[in-house]
Amino acid sequence: MSTAQYQDFIPPSRLLLGPGPSMVHPRVLHALSLPLLGHLDPVFLGLMDEIQALLRATFQTQNELTIALSGTGSAGMEAVIANLIEPGDRAIVGVNGIFGSRLATMVERHGGTVLPIEVPWGTTIPLELLRDRLSHSAPVKAVVLVHAETSTGARQPLEDAGSLCRDYDALLIVDAVTSLGGVPVEVDAWGIDACYSGTQKCLSCPPGLAPLTLSSRAVHSLQERTTPCRSWYFDFSLIAEYWADRTRAYHHTAPISMLYGLREALRLVHEEGLSARIARHQLNSDALLAGLHKLDLLPLPAAGHRLPMLNCVTLPDRIDEALVRSQLLNNYGIEIGGGLGPLRGRVWRIGLMGESCREAHVLTLLNALEEIFTCHGWLTHPGRAVQAAEETYTGSQRSARRSA
Ligand SMILES: *Cc1c(COP(=O)(O)O)cnc(C)c1O
Repeated sequence: MSTAQYQDFIPPSRLLLGPGPSMVHPRVLHALSLPLLGHLDPVFLGLMDEIQALLRATFQTQNELTIALSGTGSAGMEAVIANLIEPGDRAIVGVNGIFGSRLATMVERHGGTVLPIEVPWGTTIPLELLRDRLSHSAPVKAVVLVHAETSTGARQPLEDAGSLCRDYDALLIVDAVTSLGGVPVEVDAWGIDACYSGTQKCLSCPPGLAPLTLSSRAVHSLQERTTPCRSWYFDFSLIAEYWADRTRAYHHTAPISMLYGLREALRLVHEEGLSARIARHQLNSDALLAGLHKLDLLPLPAAGHRLPMLNCVTLPDRIDEALVRSQLLNNYGIEIGGGLGPLRGRVWRIGLMGESCREAHVLTLLNALEEIFTCHGWLTHPGRAVQAAEETYTGSQRSARRSA
């Protein structure tokens, strides 16, 4: 076979406003292209130490076992379950979307028994319901909750979940794949025992690593296991020996370039500052929702339970949603997400994550939607959506000036 037919691959220019991956900063792209070091080179080990410090600041934790696991967010998910759930363990799993149901499947595959708390998609797990289940189901090894349910846009309140779990001697496991870097994730203050994330959502790095952190309670529970972790590749007791200063034992070859990229992405997070970054996500989401409201696209989750980085909006019947998404992609180079599972065809999921979360991107998307809707005759007064978003931005400048 001749290779002459294979041309250079040049990806088309895209504005990524879906559920991930998000846009990547040029500084991160540059870091990815740097020459390789060996995975035991002292200079590389120093870089790993910096990544651990930056991750602790991002997760707001002092946890020693804070690392970037090889693999995407799903690897973090499966690794945490494989290490903390032993055959015969019982786990309460909040199921209100795709990721909660995947976690339930993983608990079962690793030999655990799932006690699901199922609530409608788009809603969150009420803490009273969790307390009730905990009090009737002892002993429970772990409670598993998704902080940011990317399939529905719902934001799970977590502030009091950790102390509740401690009252019943259960570990609190939290999926923060979409939330980390976009809304507060306070691992220590909220008493989270195991928290994992991914790189391609609000951290704005390409997919390929799963940052995660384990409390001393979780580490203690690893040490108390009566059977070895069934996954060799994800066995935290082995992986921790590569990340720990004292040992640095080879386990598997670290994805060197991905770790370069993650370090740069985390440096960008902390240059901006976590609270400024969180405020930016909220403002852009407010502006987007104000604009979408003018197009009759209304948020699925109730006020107070919405994720700013994943805006899930329901669609009026008159709109051919698949057609609009393909026009956005093919004519404007803009990607947004459709619905999954029971929400297929009924919602859009518009991501404003990390580098994707910018005023110019919000205005570009709203303008494109107004043009497409007008062409199809679904909109008679174009311009109002962009105007509503612009008013949100000027209103926030005015109140910033007033408080300055
Ligand atoms: C994206 C996502 C995952 C899975 O991450 P991948 O990087 O796709 O493996 C898990 N949980 C949630 C809540 C997510 O949004």
